[in-house]
Amino acid sequence: MRLASFGPKPEISAVVPCFNEDAVLPETTRRLTASLEQIGRSFEIVFVDDGSRDNTPRILTELHASDPRIRVVRLSRNFGHQVAISAGLEYARGAAVVLIDADLQDPPEVIPEMVALWSQGHDVVYGTRQNRDGETAFKTLTAKWFYRFINRLSDVPIPLDSGDFRLLDRKVVDALLAMPERDRFMRGMVSWVGFQQVSVPYDRAPRHAGDSKYTLFKMARFATDGILSFSIAPLRIATLLGVAASALALLGGLTAAGIGLANGRWMAPWGWVVLVVLLLGGAQLLCLGILGEYLGRTYGENKRRPLYFVRETLGFDEPFSRTAESRLTHEEHRSARAGFEG
Ligand code: UDP
Ligand code: MG
Repeated sequence: MRLASFGPKPEISAVVPCFNEDAVLPETTRRLTASLEQIGRSFEIVFVDDGSRDNTPRILTELHASDPRIRVVRLSRNFGHQVAISAGLEYARGAAVVLIDADLQDPPEVIPEMVALWSQGHDVVYGTRQNRDGETAFKTLTAKWFYRFINRLSDVPIPLDSGDFRLLDRKVVDALLAMPERDRFMRGMVSWVGFQQVSVPYDRAPRHAGDSKYTLFKMARFATDGILSFSIAPLRIATLLGVAASALALLGGLTAAGIGLANGRWMAPWGWVVLVVLLLGGAQLLCLGILGEYLGRTYGENKRRPLYFVRETLGFDEPFSRTAESRLTHEEHRSARAGFEG
């Protein structure tokens, strides 16, 4: 579902998810607008109001009234950061889309550099946090562990220490929009679609105002989504435990039988009972694990991800296209992308 769009398509869109961000919005808009203006391309700023309960809706309405390049998508309730980003991507119309948090932890001043790299032919330019000022040691440490852990489990490498601050070329945006899965772990999805990716290091600033909207519970949910939607490794735990238990039982039984046969000193009856219980438990876990494998496969299928994406076409009208609304001609895409002198 798309809103009718008015006016010519902007060349660059900034997508900003906001959840109770009234304290930072005016300053964010000022710095973001200044940075985008410096690039000298047409742009829009798409604010996604993720069901805020403070003054965010009113401030966004005022910002839109004062500058028509500022657009607002308001969600019906709080759907969470990742879904808010998806909604913003759906509404953004630029040839390049920059995702940026509302709290100025990602400096808007890095955007011109991202656009310059995009002009040079990179499809995804992601910010890599160099240091995380003003965040608790707990958050920094858990984030660090999380990215290393998920990289061991997952089939697609997810860049370490990168948040959602990134520039995406239109074809990458269309690819992400074509992925219908409900658990949206954007960082993993952006890695999964491929294309030409490059990183820009930046220093993550402390939050400009307000508190983190990620509660411990939301962080845990986020981590679970990340692990479960990019790996079925947890399903394999049952199989491993089952094999280990059965192997232990067999080994114990053989040893006890060997000793009994060799010198007639048989193990006490309860020992055999323990071994049989272990064997049966192991067999059960093994069967669970097999079920899990099938479930894992169904789960993979159920995501209904498209099988491939087109990076480029030659001899067709559109370089790549998804919906009529965001469709670019070769010319529009090329001229927006070329000719930017960073
Ligand atoms: N956010 C959102 N919906 C939520 C939680 C957060 O749109 O349910 C937005 C929030 O307004 C901010 C961004 O997502 O622009 C990142 O959130 P936050 O800064 O609280 O997370 P942190 O930087 O602490 O990880
Ligand atoms: Mg933040």
